[in-house]
Amino acid sequence: MTTDAERLTRPRVEALDSVLGVPFQVLDDGFVRVVDYMGDDGSVVQAARVSYGAGTKRVHEDRGLINYLMRHRHTTPFEMCEIKYHVKLPIFVARQWIRHRTANVNEYSARYSILDNEFYVPAPEHLAAQATANRQGRGAALAGETARRVLDLLRRDAERAYAGYTELLNEDASGTPIDPGRPGLARELARMNLSLNFYTQWYWKTDLHNLMHFLSLRADAHAQYEIRAYAEAMLETLARWVPLAHAAFLEYRMNAAAISAKGLAVIRRLIAGEQVDQPSCGLSPREWRELMAVLQNPKSG
Ligand SMILES: Cc1cc2nc3c(=O)[nH]c(=O)nc-3n(C[C@H](O)[C@H](O)[C@H](O)COP(=O)(O)OP(=O)(O)OC[C@H]3O[C@@H](n4cnc5c(N)ncnc54)[C@H](O)[C@@H]3O)c2cc1C
Repeated sequence: MTTDAERLTRPRVEALDSVLGVPFQVLDDGFVRVVDYMGDDGSVVQAARVSYGAGTKRVHEDRGLINYLMRHRHTTPFEMCEIKYHVKLPIFVARQWIRHRTANVNEYSARYSILDNEFYVPAPEHLAAQATANRQGRGAALAGETARRVLDLLRRDAERAYAGYTELLNEDASGTPIDPGRPGLARELARMNLSLNFYTQWYWKTDLHNLMHFLSLRADAHAQYEIRAYAEAMLETLARWVPLAHAAFLEYRMNAAAISAKGLAVIRRLIAGEQVDQPSCGLSPREWRELMAVLQNPKSG
């Protein structure tokens, strides 16, 4: 080791340390909790300074640099920070989540262990009808007798599936044989009749850049409520962990909007005081509606 070796200390973030391992409850039986992390806002700045040269270390200048990186999509400094979550989530949410390939995942093995008798049933206010305008969305909440029947059916089916699972396994939750006189089906096969609302668990580790990419898609209004609920809890952990990057993320990504070239031309004409209508501006009716929605509320676009 050389005598002029740089002395380094591991960054610690008190606001995140205070919730390390603490589950943030999501849905009825789910949670997300931070298990570990590496780096902080300073790590992003430090990495950027390698490319831009040494600068001052004042917080408002760090904020300016982080805002600049976010605005100009200079992404690699954000990859210097990592975070690891433990998540308990329904299988149908896990199927959407696993599409995000830029993470490391280790899931609870239902080949090896017995799944708990825990399944998701939506709260009544989230029990909505199929949307008529958007095939990927929900309409008005179901009410009264219709809602009650749906909830009953969801519970009944899941309970029946779990009873079948136990019978196939011929084991109770602790692994003790129920009927020692007959063999149980292998765990890897017995699970196949369980419904998608049963809970699974995994460790999910990613870097700050890809976490923000995930959150920009899954904390967005277009994402299904159930995965959005997880993303919103994770946004809170982001705010604790890297407050400067979180603020820049809200400013330049979550609450910002991408506008097409034709859309910008419309805005320029509106600013110049011109009357602009959809048929003459070159935008399709759908693009026009989306642009008008963005101008009223960027998050809706
Ligand atoms: C509202 C919504 C609706 C959706 N609907 C559907 C649907 O109907 N059907 C469906 O199948 N999916 C659907 N998806 C999933 C979506 O298409 C993406 O698979 C998912 O959001 C993951 O995004 P990603 O690939 O950018 O993320 P990641 O996998 O984390 O990748 C991040 C980025 O890395 C790059 N990358 C990673 N891996 C590769 C690779 N192998 N090759 C090239 N580039 C790579 C890409 O640039 C990518 O954007 C939906 C997602 C959302 C948010």
